[in-house]
Amino acid sequence: MFIDKASIQIRAGNGGDGCVSFKRSRMMPKGGPDGGDGGDGGSVYFEADLGLNTLVDFRGTHHWKAEHGEQGTANNKHGKNGKHKIIRVPPGTLVIDEATGNTLADISDTEPLEVARGGRGGMGNDRFKNSINQAPRKAEPGEPGERFDVRLELKLIADAGFVGLPNAGKSTLLGALTRASARAGSYPFTTLTPQLGVLEIDPRRRVVLADLPGLIEGAADGAGLGHQFLQHVERTRAIVHLVDPKPAEGAAVENYLTIRAELASYSEELASKPELIVLTKADLLEAEDDAQALAHEFRRALRPQIDADVLIISAATNDGLDEFKERLWTLVHSAGLKAGGWNA
Ligand code: GDP
Ligand code: MG
Repeated sequence: MFIDKASIQIRAGNGGDGCVSFKRSRMMPKGGPDGGDGGDGGSVYFEADLGLNTLVDFRGTHHWKAEHGEQGTANNKHGKNGKHKIIRVPPGTLVIDEATGNTLADISDTEPLEVARGGRGGMGNDRFKNSINQAPRKAEPGEPGERFDVRLELKLIADAGFVGLPNAGKSTLLGALTRASARAGSYPFTTLTPQLGVLEIDPRRRVVLADLPGLIEGAADGAGLGHQFLQHVERTRAIVHLVDPKPAEGAAVENYLTIRAELASYSEELASKPELIVLTKADLLEAEDDAQALAHEFRRALRPQIDADVLIISAATNDGLDEFKERLWTLVHSAGLKAGGWNA
């Protein structure tokens, strides 16, 4: 449903040319051939990195090249092999050949997989001597390395899904978090549907967030708009439940329980995902309201049936967002470990 894409060129290294050379010394003025073989070109490998969850890093780097092999030299010296290039991608990334549309690889292993093979080094003239020709002037050129223009495609799995009644503040928070991240400006949102965002806490810590709008009563029976989104949230590792503490309609705790009931009736597994409760719009509270006390009260009202962390934030003033990000990271991280792996 949500596909992240990047186009890159991968170039394996060419093999080094074989060398034409003859031994020359005072003792052996007409020595035999001694041209060494060329080194092999390096290959381009892909491997899955469990810490990655988007293709955002490929925005800046279009060319990925392994090294060429070096030429063979005199004294039967083998040319140096070119260094391989290893490209790390999120698990589940497809590598598709732009020219043919064929899928070259589906990267899910942390073992490197060779996708573009380096060219073999050419043989030096020493290899061509035989009983008839003792002084061959022939050597092989190195073979070219494989080169592909490829498209990387990743079905993004949201690490956390935002749920909550309409107007709880889901879209606003998603916007604030993903705008707030340093790279948001260059992130290719055009390749994503608007309901998905990447929160960059720092360059090593990214969280893919899904806004799951339209989750309303009846959604689990297929009645609401939200049904198709429920299928997506089912695959996320954690749930962030947004609640307006001073709703225009109903009461905050009842509104929360309405959505909980929706989740539970859709699937028990979904309802039992790790959850963070976020009270929103803290900036709209009256002066006499104590925001932290409100959060504590909310938590107390849900106990003992539900024992989840309750935070209070404002997407308008950014109050509480730093703490929210850290809690979110911990939530998603521990959820990932519990599930036995990332993007499982
Ligand atoms: P959603 O339906 O859950 O996606 O809710 P929205 O993000 O669309 O927000 C509903 C309304 O609440 C909009 O008018 C937002 O501008 C407003 N809103 C959301 N978050 C905040 C906030 O932190 N402070 C204030 N003052 N308004 C907010
Ligand atoms: Mg919305």
